Amino acid sequence: MSEHETPRHVVIIGSGPAGLTAAIYAARAALQPLVLAGTYWGGQLVLTSDVENFPGYPNGVLGPEMMDELRAQAERFGAEVRTIDATRVDLRQRPFVVEADDGTITANSVIIATGAAAKRLEIPGEAEMFGRGVSTCATCDGWFYRDKAIAVVGGGDSALEEALFLTRFASKVTIVHRRDALRASKVLQQRAQDNPKIAFRWNAVVEAILGGERVTGLRLRDTLSGEVSVLPVDGVFVAVGHQPNTELFAGQIDLDAAGYIARQDADSTATNIPGVFAAGDVRDHRYRQAVTAAGDGCKSAMDAERWLEAEGVAVPDVTHEVYSVPGVG
Ligand code: NAP
Repeated sequence: MSEHETPRHVVIIGSGPAGLTAAIYAARAALQPLVLAGTYWGGQLVLTSDVENFPGYPNGVLGPEMMDELRAQAERFGAEVRTIDATRVDLRQRPFVVEADDGTITANSVIIATGAAAKRLEIPGEAEMFGRGVSTCATCDGWFYRDKAIAVVGGGDSALEEALFLTRFASKVTIVHRRDALRASKVLQQRAQDNPKIAFRWNAVVEAILGGERVTGLRLRDTLSGEVSVLPVDGVFVAVGHQPNTELFAGQIDLDAAGYIARQDADSTATNIPGVFAAGDVRDHRYRQAVTAAGDGCKSAMDAERWLEAEGVAVPDVTHEVYSVPGVG
């Protein structure tokens, strides 16, 4: 039994910068969006402290504070934000069906903005010192490591990109990889090998991140000899891949080769299912920034609005402005 006789115009699943920006735009387009924000709402930004690269905050802003403001901005325009999890979706029938912790909802369009999570090493010291020397985002935290020695764990494109970016700040970057061959593209490999600030530690797994107040080093184990050693560093960037949060849609929607939701074309947030749109890190493994996710959220709401109009779904005729800058309520 559905909670609404009439389907919702749009249900947004996820509440990071993509989901909440989609909510701001959809609300201002009079689509009365429902945001299923999740029990732990706010996305990856609630796990970070200072956000210094979101335009419009010259003195930086705390991640959780920025998400509070985005949510308040969405609610101000009439978005309904519920801090509950979507537990099951059926995108094979129209209207779409979304089951949440507190009931079943039907929707004419759905915006998927469930984000991604950086994979962790799950070793001692990692959780304890996260944000105090342990990071999963060089773009966010590299700035804090000027003239410091740091390590990057991983051998893929992300690890090498992070390492190359970090050489702008750090005195030395050691890439710690569990094998003796990199997975990253040849171009990135060459650039890393040519960079005098980058060193490689092959065949090494990190057993523990050492320190207390802050990171002081890594305990490494050589996978060939079994020898244990300590690599002194001031920070460690874990770049062992991201996991897009797509379990809810498994088997129902097209994914790309890396497991992210596939776009129909580069200029739109449409997925292979008409009426279902995807925004932010759940479909983007390239940029992964709050501001790019917010931009994507905006596009998804506009795409949904146009699609609903083209489908002939009645949308109240109100005059709405398009100038809704996220973060500036
Ligand atoms: P990835 O390609 O899956 O690489 C993950 C790396 O981390 C691998 O080298 C892997 O080692 C290592 N690793 C995984 N689990 C580990 C563990 N528990 N302990 C130690 N090492 C571990 O992930 P990614 O680099 O994030 O890239 C994801 C996708 O995004 C790829 O398709 C990539 O091409 C794309 N991407 C593209 C760009 C770009 O084009 N500029 C930038 C970033 C990402 P093994 O090699 O031994 O498996």
